[in-house]
Amino acid sequence: MAGRIIELSPSQISAHNASASDAEEISKLRASQSPIAISLQRCPVWTSLRPLQYSGYWDNDAAATLVNTGQTAYFAFDGGSRPRLSGGPLLGDYIFEQMHFHWSVDDFTGCEHVLDGQGYAAECHFVHYNSKYASIEQAVGHPDGLAVVGFLFEAVAAPNPRCDKLVEGLDKIRKRERAVTISADSLSWMARDDLHEGTYVTYKGSLTTPPYTECVTWIIYEKTIEIGSEQISLMRQLEGPDDAPIERNTRPTQRHPPGHSVIYVQQVKAKL
Ligand SMILES: [Zn+2]
Repeated sequence: MAGRIIELSPSQISAHNASASDAEEISKLRASQSPIAISLQRCPVWTSLRPLQYSGYWDNDAAATLVNTGQTAYFAFDGGSRPRLSGGPLLGDYIFEQMHFHWSVDDFTGCEHVLDGQGYAAECHFVHYNSKYASIEQAVGHPDGLAVVGFLFEAVAAPNPRCDKLVEGLDKIRKRERAVTISADSLSWMARDDLHEGTYVTYKGSLTTPPYTECVTWIIYEKTIEIGSEQISLMRQLEGPDDAPIERNTRPTQRHPPGHSVIYVQQVKAKL
């Protein structure tokens, strides 16, 4: 199923061009190693970028697989149409490759990125590669190769029913290398207005796992996704290489290099 396709009127095209040059400015920013701790107050605020456009994520007919890799829980579509991301700080279209999680021993140290000193239970990464490259492997070699969207998961007392399908999947992949077929609506927790109306931070950074290549445009949403404390605890029960639970798979925050910028983006509601 295709996502929303938006036809631009001539007046919107000129607005689009203005924003594209903003995205171009972001593309020229200096990259840092990731993750980083971010003070929102110290970020310049931009309101002129186009809203982010998500197409074919939770509303996709293709089957998907959730697998315990021994390092993380890893979600990818098996084939068929791949979700696409554009707008915001991105120039061109980015193709969804995979989604995975980072977590830690408790409900407060599981995120890789830290906004205003606040820790949460887990961080989810949607990894995309620039459609101008033939594959993710090729894209990693370029500063505009990858776009990673990060969501911070906040543990709360009540379970979030929109996370049920994902949690059911996690329950079936406790053993390493176990995989389960899962439907796209296991991503339904991400379907909220915040995607294209909410605030996020963006910066040029790196992979948070080896080889730590600086090829990523990061997009981290400010508003957390709430998940039940018991639901999120299933991640900590996934088994790693020594059959012991994967207790922690986060990289510590890295230093900002001199002149490094993080932009705080307020998305302006799309006029359609
Ligand atoms: Zn990650």
